[in-house]
Amino acid sequence: MTQKNRGILTVVSGFSGAGKGTIMKELMKVHGERYALSISATTRAPRPGETEGVEYFFRSREEFEQMIADEALIEYAAYVGNYYGTPRAYVEEQLAAGRDVILEIEIQGALKVKRRFPDTLLLFVTPPSAAILKERLTGRGTETSDVIESRLVRAAEEICGIEAYDYLIVNDRLQECVERVHQIISNERYRISRNESFLAGMRAELDAFSQKNK
Ligand code: ADP
Ligand code: 5GP
Repeated sequence: MTQKNRGILTVVSGFSGAGKGTIMKELMKVHGERYALSISATTRAPRPGETEGVEYFFRSREEFEQMIADEALIEYAAYVGNYYGTPRAYVEEQLAAGRDVILEIEIQGALKVKRRFPDTLLLFVTPPSAAILKERLTGRGTETSDVIESRLVRAAEEICGIEAYDYLIVNDRLQECVERVHQIISNERYRISRNESFLAGMRAELDAFSQKNK
């Protein structure tokens, strides 16, 4: 292919505690040269071990509202009492440079992105069972039991929107799950609709052959 294709935009969503963050970290470790992982802005407080500009850009409510007013976010949503949003510039630059971009965001934001960029690939991560979800959320040890309860209520709401997604990723064995995500995104490159410039070139060459043979 002579002309560089635009990168593929993938959204990864899933219940809190399903393992999205863990999968993304591992995917970047193993295939980091292929992907640009967008870092979101949020008004929630950093968890122990989280660093500004690594997991999130941690912002005050006022700063976040200023980003909304400046149209600096592709999408944003409220989730269990806090704002979360995707900074626009990084995503647009990376896609234009032909890199595959991943957003790890919740379902309302995912649907907004899909509406705005209809060729977005939507992946939904679940744990093998609801009981394992609760275990993982509790085991992570980063939220109070009240917040865990709110996140489980939110999970029950989120599963209702799952039909909008393209692929289900059951996060049982981590490495297998990471490879599955990588394979699915890789396969998207071969979609007819993502190879229009290559096909236009082929069509023109074939037309030239048939003109000669007339
Ligand atoms: P999310 O980003 O979806 O909220 P995390 O990545 O923080 O979820 O994972 C929640 C918890 O589950 C973490 O303690 C993590 O270590 C654990 N975890 C993630 N994936 C697996 C897996 N495949 N098997 C067992 N534990 C997992
Ligand atoms: P957490 O507080 O566990 O890091 O994230 C809570 C939820 O917010 C997760 O479902 C996560 O995917 C989602 N999230 C993170 N960043 C964004 C974002 O930029 N936009 C939206 N809409 N959701 C996000």
